[in-house]
Amino acid sequence: MTATEVNGIAVVSDEPRQAPFRDNGGNTVYQPQTRVLTLANGSVVYGCQHCDYTSSNPNSIRPHLGKHTGRPRKGTRTTASNSLDLPLAELMGRLDTLTAVTEDRDAWKTRALTAEKRLKQLRNALGVAE
Ligand SMILES: [Zn+2]
Repeated sequence: MTATEVNGIAVVSDEPRQAPFRDNGGNTVYQPQTRVLTLANGSVVYGCQHCDYTSSNPNSIRPHLGKHTGRPRKGTRTTASNSLDLPLAELMGRLDTLTAVTEDRDAWKTRALTAEKRLKQLRNALGVAE
């Protein structure tokens, strides 16, 4: 469950995070697994939808979500101290997470390159020197 208090300060509002980009239709994109938590003292932290993990950095929530995708076998407890001890299913789960993070990064890179190109075209069209 999402944190209800952080360092003893109560969470007064819990909302899904709005992604820092919009979809192709210009609509707001939500990242519901990343919670925006407003505390009683007015400060804002970011939390995990599935547990009480919180961070002041919104970008640290998505990598953390990988912890919740593992499917440990019944009766096995993973200490995660040594990857070689992990059951194959757990390793495959982590691999999926890594793939997702990598794809996410690649998608952002593509967006950045496209934006850069458009900016250049705009500058050329306007006759602005770089
Ligand atoms: Zn979590």
